[in-house]
Amino acid sequence: MLPFDHLIVHVTATPPSVDFNAGRIDADHRKKGYKKNGYHIVVLRDGKAEVHVKFGPDELQARMIDGARVRTFSEPGAHVGSSGRGWNKRSIGVVLVGGVDEDGNPENNATEAQLETLRMLIDALMEDFDIPLANVMGHRDLIAKAGKGGPKECPCFDVREWYTCGSTKPVEAQEDEPQEDTPEPEETPQRHTVVHGDTLWALANTYGLSVEDLMDLNGLKDDTIRIGQVLTVTV
Ligand SMILES: [Zn+2]
Repeated sequence: MLPFDHLIVHVTATPPSVDFNAGRIDADHRKKGYKKNGYHIVVLRDGKAEVHVKFGPDELQARMIDGARVRTFSEPGAHVGSSGRGWNKRSIGVVLVGGVDEDGNPENNATEAQLETLRMLIDALMEDFDIPLANVMGHRDLIAKAGKGGPKECPCFDVREWYTCGSTKPVEAQEDEPQEDTPEPEETPQRHTVVHGDTLWALANTYGLSVEDLMDLNGLKDDTIRIGQVLTVTV
């Protein structure tokens, strides 16, 4: 599992009448050049959650269904890259199917079943990954925090306020044109040019990888590196 320390909630920006799911997101994301669906968890309109592995309490597990077409917790997502480098590796991406009305305008239309599932997911993921409540947020809040990124209506309710107060009253109407929640391209692998004094062990520490990861990523047979060598240092 990656050491995720943020949980980011999105909407698919599809109207309630559209039967969207992980498979359809997967197809869309592949068309955009991603290796697969960029989210870790997809919460369907009926409250079922598409995930790759069951976790959390029985009540939550009962709502989980095969998530073959989502990211595993060992894979960085591809859902918040536009807010800056590194966010995809730090955050679990949960997407609620819905979020716009039949005309495509942002609408707070999450179902009760979706919100029940989301609450259980947040509880379980905060505990499993030791994520502080301050780092549980909607995509829109990450955009505000990072200062850049995609649509400000993703989702159009305040996730943390809902989680703590139980209300999903819509945030103040925005004048901006609604935008489709278009995921950003995956981060390109980061590279490091070896300088005097670098060791694989130190580089692994710097980039949050293991020595084995670095050797695998770069096809190294032993831990010898040489000055000027260019190494891939992100998964
Ligand atoms: Zn989003």
